Amino acid sequence: MTLIAVSKLHPASTIREACQTGQRDFGENYPQELREKAVELRDIAGIRWHAIGPLQGNKAKYVAKVAFAFHALDRIEVAQELSRRRAGDALRCYLEVNIASENSKAGLKVEDVAPFLAAINALPNLSVVGLMCLPPETSDPESSRPYFRQLRELARQIGLKELSMGTTADFETAIEEGATAVRVGSAIFGPRPERTKFPAT
Ligand SMILES: *Cc1c(COP(=O)(O)O)cnc(C)c1O
Repeated sequence: MTLIAVSKLHPASTIREACQTGQRDFGENYPQELREKAVELRDIAGIRWHAIGPLQGNKAKYVAKVAFAFHALDRIEVAQELSRRRAGDALRCYLEVNIASENSKAGLKVEDVAPFLAAINALPNLSVVGLMCLPPETSDPESSRPYFRQLRELARQIGLKELSMGTTADFETAIEEGATAVRVGSAIFGPRPERTKFPAT
């Protein structure tokens, strides 16, 4: 189980401090912020950047260059661009699933996951390792459980091993339901500073 410390909007100095405890996996949402931090912290051995937010094709190069994993893949054009721009080890990708069919949310429909996987499987520089979801916001972690179970079952059906699920609100439930990576921000770093500097995607 990998604990991804979600450091979006926190300064690089905060990440550097967290590294003193041995933490090496960090999650970022915004591609340019990710790139700037990766440059600033490149002296830290073994640091691994997880891009967890939505991505547009024109920003894919930042993720392709510095990320260890991308957790929000749901568009073929983005997959193609990531593969085209990636050098070295394949980029580990999770397909984002809109598990509760929310209109406001990104991610693939459940029934589109298998065809999507088939469509991108031949891309040379990506390795699809698992599925990711972000269930409806709630203050009751139990309400996420059925969604986590459904994601696990879907991954099993299509032969994917990894499950990126669980945030501050529900990571314990996610771990009980088989998460292989949890993405925890505010429980580790406290409230996030306001977003002022970086554009949306
Ligand atoms: C911000 C974010 C998180 C972390 O959220 P917290 O509530 O601070 O733990 C996890 N996953 C995604 C996709 C996020 O955007």
